[in-house]
Amino acid sequence: MPELALHFSVVFAISAHKIGVRRALLLSLLALFPDLDVLIRVHRSISHSIVFLVLVCAPLLLAVYRFKPGYFRLALLGSLAVLSHPVMDCFQTYTPVLYPLLDQMVWVKVDGGVHVSSDGLAPQASVTIKGEPATFQPFETMDAPVFSSNSFVISLILVAVPIILDLKKIFYSEMEQATEPKTSSSEPVLNSEDPSAWLGLTLFIVGLHGITLGTISLLLKRMERRIIQTK
Ligand SMILES: [Zn+2]
Repeated sequence: MPELALHFSVVFAISAHKIGVRRALLLSLLALFPDLDVLIRVHRSISHSIVFLVLVCAPLLLAVYRFKPGYFRLALLGSLAVLSHPVMDCFQTYTPVLYPLLDQMVWVKVDGGVHVSSDGLAPQASVTIKGEPATFQPFETMDAPVFSSNSFVISLILVAVPIILDLKKIFYSEMEQATEPKTSSSEPVLNSEDPSAWLGLTLFIVGLHGITLGTISLLLKRMERRIIQTK
């Protein structure tokens, strides 16, 4: 599976400008939902099946549409956030995306590159769909990847940029409100920008992201230890 940080940050980056940072943070947690199957010591279980997730989400969506139509868009985004998880996973490893319609775990391998030699450049690309029987075997122990170097920097950018843009928007609107109507043009507001404040803000967000990822990592380690102790 792609690291949890990527599952979270991709959904956050896509949704933050649409529904706001705070709602997007909650929505992005839903993208981690399928991996809760580790609590029953089976990873990439039926919770990674798009068929199963659609069957769970559809009645919930209908209920929201019927009784709380104002929340339907948010519920739809939440469902898409959950569904994004198995879609991303099946590009990384064997995932039962179509179980039980297809009794196989599917891995879509996509590779692309350019072969460089004295003859020139030769683009290369391949798409391979691999399958193996869907057997949901309990694991003894498991190291759940939360982030790697690559996914850390990618998810940091995906999470930090929408937050910075959102805070910038709040900052400007507050500055405009505090300015007299006659001097409310954008020029004085821009001139009052303090670079050190933005540096502090950026460092705060970087730290916050690190603490969040560290906490998730610790929680997963504790969870894993508990699983080992109870076996
Ligand atoms: Zn997963």
